[in-house]
Amino acid sequence: MATRILETRLEHLSIDNETGKNKKSKIGATSTLHSSSSSQSTLLKVALQNQLQNASAASLRLPAVEAATRSKGLVGTEKSNETSRNEPMSATLVREPAIKIFHLGMFEIGKPLGKGKFGRVYLAREREHKFVCALKVLYKSELQQNRAEIQVRREIEIQSNLRHPNVLKLYGHFHDSKRIFLILEFAGQGELYKHLRKAQRFPERKAAQYIAQMACALRYLHRKHVIHRDIKPENILVGIHGEIKISDFGWSVHAPGNRRKTYCGTLDYLPPEMIKPGSSDNSYDEKVDLWALGVLMYEFLVGEAPFEDSPIMTTRRIVNRDMTIPSYVSAEARDLLKKLLVVDPRGRLPLKKVQQHPWVTKHCQTDMLATGSENP
Ligand code: AMP
Repeated sequence: MATRILETRLEHLSIDNETGKNKKSKIGATSTLHSSSSSQSTLLKVALQNQLQNASAASLRLPAVEAATRSKGLVGTEKSNETSRNEPMSATLVREPAIKIFHLGMFEIGKPLGKGKFGRVYLAREREHKFVCALKVLYKSELQQNRAEIQVRREIEIQSNLRHPNVLKLYGHFHDSKRIFLILEFAGQGELYKHLRKAQRFPERKAAQYIAQMACALRYLHRKHVIHRDIKPENILVGIHGEIKISDFGWSVHAPGNRRKTYCGTLDYLPPEMIKPGSSDNSYDEKVDLWALGVLMYEFLVGEAPFEDSPIMTTRRIVNRDMTIPSYVSAEARDLLKKLLVVDPRGRLPLKKVQQHPWVTKHCQTDMLATGSENP
């Protein structure tokens, strides 16, 4: 079933291949698509194998993005700070070999899946193993104009090191003279945001299942010292089995033991400690994601974020936790919301306790707490 849906989605090639290998080629109507775990793991294996090989190589090589941005003089000062702070993770990437392994000719390109701020995402299939994925195409000139190279660098450095069923996988990346290509896991049911807008608000059972998966993914990220910093429905995709996949690591940061001071993310989801006016110490840690989880839960249940207002009012309301929970929200859900949306970060319910909260356990089977298994 999933295969047939994908097959009908694959259309003409729409990205020019600079190597000229697959210009205007088309995926035949009878060709079979496989997103089987074997082809998936092969592609993954190739990526990982080469990462390891290169890690042991004596000479350090610049990754695709770095080489590209360097040659264009794009490497900003924030980058060097981030890189030194993120040394353990960056070190792997510095030896990253994707530039040698992947190229556009290896993929058949299908229909556009969506348009982001800096490029398009296409359904794609790796020719040899028939591995279905999503190919994100980013234009270097646009990244440069918008000073977004650091965001992309982060996305690549962080996401390529993550392996969790509720975190969108980045299998590899490559580039040509104008573009950077990210090879991403294909999320068959698209953006969670669209599901939410269509449903207006989710039933408590579904909301609880999503929150359980989010908690599981965030626990994994925090264990790896990754703070996402931009949790919101637009940055969550839905897999073919209805499981959620956290994506968009453009604002995330690998900060082992560090408190951060950068102001980022989306206003509605920002926690008080990041926006408190006049505060000299507006540093924060991974607990910003707990606040965002509370905002997300509220939006799932109510259909809009709890502090939605004019920018000035939103800021004021966040700092004072000025929110109204509608009466149709159950007492258990209300309890969890209040335990996540706590102004003092230290008072927020830890993720483990979120997973054990009666509202979550009531709606989720134990095995679902890890990956989710029901369709939305
Ligand atoms: P982005 O540039 O990451 O914001 O992606 C733009 C849009 O493309 C998203 O809003 C999704 O609708 C779609 N999209 C991005 N990545 C994927 C993916 N891995 N699988 C399916 N659809 C995707």
